[in-house]
Amino acid sequence: MKFTELKLDERVLEAISFMGFEKATPIQEQAIPIVLEGGDLIACAQTGTGKTAAFVLPLIHKLIDKEEANVDALIIVPTRELAVQIEQQIQGLAYFAPVSSIAIYGGGDGVDFQQQKRALTKGTNIVVATPGKLLSHLNLGYVKVQNLKHLILDEADRMLDMGFIEDLSSIINYLPKDRQTLMFSATMPPSIRKLAKDILTDPKEVSLAISKPAAGVDQKVYLSFDEQKVGILAHLLKNRPDYDSVIVFTSTKSKVTEIVSALKKQGFKARGISSMLVQAEREEVLRMFRARRIRVLVATDVMSRGIDIKDLNMVVNYDVPNDAEDYVHRIGRTARVDAKGEAVTFISPKEMGKFARIESLIEMSIEKLAPPEELGKGPEWRANSSGGGGNRGRGGQGDGKRNFKSKSNQNRNRGNGRPNRGPSGEKKD
Ligand code: AMP
Repeated sequence: MKFTELKLDERVLEAISFMGFEKATPIQEQAIPIVLEGGDLIACAQTGTGKTAAFVLPLIHKLIDKEEANVDALIIVPTRELAVQIEQQIQGLAYFAPVSSIAIYGGGDGVDFQQQKRALTKGTNIVVATPGKLLSHLNLGYVKVQNLKHLILDEADRMLDMGFIEDLSSIINYLPKDRQTLMFSATMPPSIRKLAKDILTDPKEVSLAISKPAAGVDQKVYLSFDEQKVGILAHLLKNRPDYDSVIVFTSTKSKVTEIVSALKKQGFKARGISSMLVQAEREEVLRMFRARRIRVLVATDVMSRGIDIKDLNMVVNYDVPNDAEDYVHRIGRTARVDAKGEAVTFISPKEMGKFARIESLIEMSIEKLAPPEELGKGPEWRANSSGGGGNRGRGGQGDGKRNFKSKSNQNRNRGNGRPNRGPSGEKKD
């Protein structure tokens, strides 16, 4: 569906077009009309589906011509990374609209607190906040929430997992009852249903099924300490001499360099691909990989989406991907119609919670293996590890497809008390 069919303000449509969004995603198609109508909504959708824009776009549309900025909309999220990421997306989508926003989260210094206090006292259209820090401000009595019209709980299941339920109820007690409430959650356990019953009025429901890994992919995980990961990778490659096309995904470009040099030392033909290479170099590396002149390609998470190579023998997630859609998308590259592909994920103790979450989303339990004996004992599996990963989004890199910094945002974002950024953060990895 085209965005123009969704009856959004022209200034919102202009920003959408600058962001490079061509058509609405399914969650946007379903949720935007409900939010525009003013009804309550409960939506089951994961990161990666475009769910942020599904509530941000109609919010901006509604607030665009408001004379006075109060705290008109409050978006509560579980982590500071998500708060920053959503607020960046608001800045991009409100680039041509006089709608102000601020991210409120803990961990800063006294200067940050004063800046947040100023923005909350003066009034800012959209506040994106983590529960604890927001509550500290609310308890001090100066936050202008008396005219609040929209409350959004994002990643509600995760907020409950993180023990924020009491903070959430205290926050909600401060808010006017006459408001629109939207709740987004990746899963719908009974605790979320109960919360929805308590705080939503006659909500419409939208649910998006997550894609599932293809049946032909043989998935396994190795429970390993960080220092064992290179050894396991070398072991896998040695034991699969017929594999001539393997991709390894890792989280940072410095790790790409580390892994490539460790593999080369052991005689494997490996090359890395990250933002450290200029475009022409990236293309050359990909060409060589496709021609099977490089056996192992090591890439950053950010590169992973841009690399369109299928028919691999094996995909290795050197680190656990940030969300289930990424996991499914990556391992799908190995599944050929006529053959089996292999997908291996290395899980360190701090990544166990994150992987357990992926398992629950794809509704599969993946076989957990210990490292080969010569590498020593690996960690024990703990599904409820706290290392669920703060940010299940795109690593807080901003969301825009283009980077257009030519226009000052200064007058467009009122009252957020700090320098404005461009509408889209440049992708980094
Ligand atoms: P989210 O699920 O909100 O974390 O969004 C995932 C990514 O999709 C973000 O990088 C967004 O900028 C991007 N995105 C959101 N809506 C669209 C769209 N309609 N078309 C293309 N990309 C989009």
